[in-house]
Amino acid sequence: MQQNKEQDKMEKIVSLCKRRGFIFQSSEIYGGLASTWDYGSLGAELKRNLKNAWWASNVYQRDDIEGLDASILMRPETWMASGHVTNFEDALVDCKSCKKRFKVEHVTGKKCPECGGELTDARQFNLMLKTHLGPVEDTSSLTYLRPETAQGIFVNFQNVLTSMRRKLPFGIAQIGKSFRNEVTTGNLTFRSREFEQMEIEFFVKPGTDEEWYEKWVSERFEWYIELGINRENLRKRTHGKTELAHYAKACTDIEYKFPFGWSELEGIANRTDFDLKQHMRLSGKDLQYFDDESKDKYVPYVIEPSGGVDRSILAFLTDSYREEEVKGEKRVSLAIHKRLAPIKVAVLPLLRNRPDIVELAGKITEDLQKCSALGGKVMYDDTASIGRLYRRQDEIGTPYCITVDVDSLSDKKVTIRDRDSMKQDRVSVDKVREYLEEKFN
Ligand code: ATP
Repeated sequence: MQQNKEQDKMEKIVSLCKRRGFIFQSSEIYGGLASTWDYGSLGAELKRNLKNAWWASNVYQRDDIEGLDASILMRPETWMASGHVTNFEDALVDCKSCKKRFKVEHVTGKKCPECGGELTDARQFNLMLKTHLGPVEDTSSLTYLRPETAQGIFVNFQNVLTSMRRKLPFGIAQIGKSFRNEVTTGNLTFRSREFEQMEIEFFVKPGTDEEWYEKWVSERFEWYIELGINRENLRKRTHGKTELAHYAKACTDIEYKFPFGWSELEGIANRTDFDLKQHMRLSGKDLQYFDDESKDKYVPYVIEPSGGVDRSILAFLTDSYREEEVKGEKRVSLAIHKRLAPIKVAVLPLLRNRPDIVELAGKITEDLQKCSALGGKVMYDDTASIGRLYRRQDEIGTPYCITVDVDSLSDKKVTIRDRDSMKQDRVSVDKVREYLEEKFN
């Protein structure tokens, strides 16, 4: 029963995403490309707002983190050093009848879970996507689309350290695309082949790493809650020794209670000095840090909070989805944080056939579109009756709707409606900007 309800919720989110232009299947007109997704107009706004919120809290509101934007393509030695060429593998089995491929850990017994056919023996399958650079397709031109953004940070450690005159502890933050040839798919964007990561590599003196690890676990956990995720839908899960990645000394996942079960949103790992040491070995470059005060030279330890943009978006959408009954009618709304909402304010004229009302609504829209304090898009809509316009805005999470009516022409006031409480305030036209700036502050 509960499971059906959860499945139902997931279907509603998927349908909302498609219908209202948050997320579309990639190459849909050709039948779709599995596990790749396009963000529509509202999805693109939401994604931008989410990345800005992450960047602001990590790069702007702290003194110890620098930003970086490294390229997706890197020298193949990078992936030998990081261990991805040899270790980034899943054990897979193929069905001899229906040809479907499964992760060994997802199959029980020797039969295909879909058609009951016979399965092949398990084979290791590397998750990195390969490509060739330049005019000749041979092994010397082989490289990979990065499976994580982290390595672009490690190879630039010395560049950022010297150019920004940094001292330890400090971190480097980056948001960007990563690629993995995933075989398990489904659940919308949760496991995509092309996705975005928000990663920090925080470099610290060995010996202080455990303390920094704990700090980052709680810092990152609270970030999701500050942006509106319900605390009871979020948990920390510490990896057991056998589950740890080859580079990690400790790892905690932040998991969200998705309709399909508790699943990872972000991992915080103590990567030790593994990556920098490996890059020193393969590149022959000295990546040690010279400590001015103690006159010590050492390879820093690294704490890595690594989150997914797409998984976060899915969590924020799921968590804010509401259905309720209002005056005998079903109301669907997204009670999403104002900072994340794709449309900040919608201006709605009550009567679209009254030029004076339309003109005033247009003026208010233009003025608010120039107001950077709102932090995003302001739209005008007169394509339906007011009831329907409210419903449309509620469903996409617009925090405020402004209605211009006949009285507005004489009393120079408009109605501002709050999405969550549905409370309406009558505000003077010349005070609208101030009113909203305060709400978005
Ligand atoms: P999982 O165990 O779910 O495959 P992972 O442990 O391999 O994830 P990491 O390598 O720790 O993931 O990557 C850090 C973050 O990047 C994840 O917490 C997730 O948010 C995001 N991420 C990783 N793989 C994908 C993917 N295929 N699609 C969308 N996001 C992903």
